[in-house]
Amino acid sequence: MYDVNKLREDFPILSRTIYNKPLVYFDNGATTQKPRVVVDAMVNEYYSVNANVHRGVHFLSMRATELHEESREVVRNFLNARSTNEIIFTRGTTESVNLLAYSFGEAFMKEGDEVIVSVMEHHSNIVPWQLLRDRKGIVIKVIPMNDRGELLLDEYEKLFSPRTKLVSVVHVSNVLGTINPVKQMIEIAHKHDVPVFVDGAQAVPHMPVDVQALDADFYAFSGHKVYGPTGVGVLYGKENWLDKLPPYQGGGEMIGSVSFERTTYNELPYKFEAGTPDYVGTTALACALRYVSAIGMDAIGNWEHELTQYALRRFEEIGDIRVFGNAAERGGVLSFQVGNIHHFDLGTLLDRLGIAVRTGHHCAQPLMQRLGIEGTARASFGLYNTKEEVDALIAGIERVRKMF
Ligand code: PMP
Repeated sequence: MYDVNKLREDFPILSRTIYNKPLVYFDNGATTQKPRVVVDAMVNEYYSVNANVHRGVHFLSMRATELHEESREVVRNFLNARSTNEIIFTRGTTESVNLLAYSFGEAFMKEGDEVIVSVMEHHSNIVPWQLLRDRKGIVIKVIPMNDRGELLLDEYEKLFSPRTKLVSVVHVSNVLGTINPVKQMIEIAHKHDVPVFVDGAQAVPHMPVDVQALDADFYAFSGHKVYGPTGVGVLYGKENWLDKLPPYQGGGEMIGSVSFERTTYNELPYKFEAGTPDYVGTTALACALRYVSAIGMDAIGNWEHELTQYALRRFEEIGDIRVFGNAAERGGVLSFQVGNIHHFDLGTLLDRLGIAVRTGHHCAQPLMQRLGIEGTARASFGLYNTKEEVDALIAGIERVRKMF
């Protein structure tokens, strides 16, 4: 039994009001709210453990290091990676993609080499490749989609050439909710001897992810979207790939030894972790991953699926709503327009009713161009959302529509 009301009690913010209305938080795609245990973990570490990690001989430093490295093991287990050497802590998905584009680009790409992305990528999986294009003259190829928001796998296969060096594709679209068949896409890429990076920012919070079962070469997610703190995320990479990549940033932690003549680099995963890591953040991230694991990623996914189906049915009932994305496999993200009402007006008026939705292009302007629109309103669900909240959204939309 999924007891959503019991789970809601874990999230203090959910009991606050906005303009005297109960908060209905439907902006989980942008960031999720934090359960008390996650914030407590941060407070506890700052109040009773805090010291810089690694190479410390004193008690607190050793304890902080233990917590930090235990967190890496929690992430490894959560993603089912083979080794903690494959878990790089970053600032989030964006930094993970930038790290990969820089290091992979340095090691393996030269002018005319190609990376394949999809039309539904977040800007964070487009712009780093464009920076590499500016630096090295690489070529970016784009997988198209159909009007339901499903990638065209036949077209995808046709994009491969002897110059293809990497596929970089989103697992779940933050706009359409499409769950891309990444396992199949990875199989196809591997047939061409091409490695694959998967942007899991919108997948990890909503479904079990097993990087070995997917056979992903690289996989990234952000802590703050999976009920963890801001400022910390992960890049998973197969050890044999990470071994071959040069460091991304230089500084403390990532070195073996330094002299003015010659510097050697640290082993994995530290080679990619220059400077003081967000060790409090990693402890809190591990706490968040334990929290969602205890509920069960399947249970969370099933609940959000039920909410999404319910919301889609209710949208249909009221009519005059255009939902963008109708893939056979879809997650709990609903991007929509209501009549001719501008999405900013819709979002602003819903806000006055205490309902938080995101409006705009959702950092996916090329996708907006493909859809022929400027933006949408977007409701994205989290583990604590309820059908009553969906009803409040529907009532809110009806009310806004009457005003126009
Ligand atoms: N990829 C996708 C699919 C996303 O939805 C987001 C966040 N909206 C990102 C990448 C970037 O994540 P972050 O801002 O946490 O780095």
